[in-house]
Amino acid sequence: MFYTAALENPIFRKVGQMADRMGVQAFVIGGYVRDYFLRRPSTDIDVVVTGSGIALAEALGRELHTKVSVFKNFGTAMLRAGDWEVEFVGARKESYRADSRKPIVEDGTLEDDQLRRDFTINAMAFALNADRFGELVDPFGGMSDLEQCIIRTPCDPDVTFSDDPLRMIRAVRFAAQLGFDLYPETFEAIERNSSRIEIVSHERITTELNKIMLSPVPSIGYDLFDRMGLLPYILPELVRLKGVEKINGRAHKDNFLHTLKVLDNVALRSDNLWLRWAALLHDIAKPATKAYDPRVGWTFHQHEVLGSKMVPAIFRRLKLPMNEHMKYVQKLVFLHLRPIILAEDIVTDSAVRRLLFEAGDDIDDLMTLCEADITSGIESKVKRYLRNFALVREKLREIEEKDRIRNFQPPITGEIIMSTYGLAPCREIGTIKEAIKDAILDGQISNDYDEAYALMEQLAESMGLHKVSTDSMNRTL
Ligand code: ATP
Repeated sequence: MFYTAALENPIFRKVGQMADRMGVQAFVIGGYVRDYFLRRPSTDIDVVVTGSGIALAEALGRELHTKVSVFKNFGTAMLRAGDWEVEFVGARKESYRADSRKPIVEDGTLEDDQLRRDFTINAMAFALNADRFGELVDPFGGMSDLEQCIIRTPCDPDVTFSDDPLRMIRAVRFAAQLGFDLYPETFEAIERNSSRIEIVSHERITTELNKIMLSPVPSIGYDLFDRMGLLPYILPELVRLKGVEKINGRAHKDNFLHTLKVLDNVALRSDNLWLRWAALLHDIAKPATKAYDPRVGWTFHQHEVLGSKMVPAIFRRLKLPMNEHMKYVQKLVFLHLRPIILAEDIVTDSAVRRLLFEAGDDIDDLMTLCEADITSGIESKVKRYLRNFALVREKLREIEEKDRIRNFQPPITGEIIMSTYGLAPCREIGTIKEAIKDAILDGQISNDYDEAYALMEQLAESMGLHKVSTDSMNRTL
């Protein structure tokens, strides 16, 4: 079959013509071909050449007056054509030793190159030479697997996964991303080889994990990790969430299943990667805080506090960024019960102001997480909570409009207190600042400079502080 419609960008013809002139064969391979059939437009092109990929890229670069980046160590070269990125590599044959991820690489045929690919759906190629332009080369049944929504390795799966265990995570990633099933033999081989994942770096695993997180139904990935025995190597904290304990006929929910439901709920509402991570980790400290109280049943006191403290270590281990994204996840884990408490009680202005102050600009994401957290099977309960949440949201809007608390900075700063009373840094300054902030959040005074200044004067007087005169200030300056 020929698919010239997939190759409309003129760059494909140019690569083919240059390959003809150089007497080599060139093919587009992998993700571009797969994504064409999945109708996911892609601008990343991998070209494989039966010969030197670098030589072809350099010749083309000269003809098109385009810069070519050469990566000698990898035997690859890259050039840009408009927004498109084209990477060239020579067809290769790979063989692995048991103790290393580094393969022994030799020149090979196109079929050797296709055989070293991870899955049949990633091993299809379109020919680019003029005499067969657009021909699909699919020796391992990639097209049929694509039609049947199956992830399957082109060669013996035990060999594929043992050679490069990252492929196990990639199998899960494609299953989650595309909603495909793992071919039974592929699934079983991952079960057998799961411990091999230990030789793969966390950076590579996490690149795939983030793609799973951004999938339409991310729980598919974690469910597969669990069923295939990979979860203990990737996120052992999640394994500990599994299971239900029962005392005196009272059981708590399975927190692993609950977490996955919350993650999917968030994924339905938002494609923010970090909000999805917050969903995955929101109850991570439940096992460590679990207790049974004969009066009230199961409790998980302060799991939000301990959970937020666990976030940095998890991020560090997974090589996720230790920056504001990590702080954001920590903050959402820490605050994730607050809107629920508000929805249960009568909502006071002061409680809403405090939540706005603490959540700042992340308040909408926090509300999304909290709504997603309601996974009860009892419909009337879910409805009641969602109704109350609607009230909390309404109240948040009202108070934000009125008091602008979201990015609130108390109007009286430490510097103002210090210069007014001629103080060096000391405890009193913090006490005054905190009292002013509380008074504003509790609605005793409004978020206004003059009112805050008056309160500062009152507090300072009760502490026996005296203002310095402008004169003496000028003298000290
Ligand atoms: P996406 O485009 O969604 O990131 P992709 O797998 O197509 O996914 P790359 O990771 O750039 O993108 O890989 C390009 C191609 O290289 C794949 O389609 C596959 O043929 C091959 N490939 C990538 N990683 C591996 C691997 N670990 N083992 C074998 N083949 C791989």
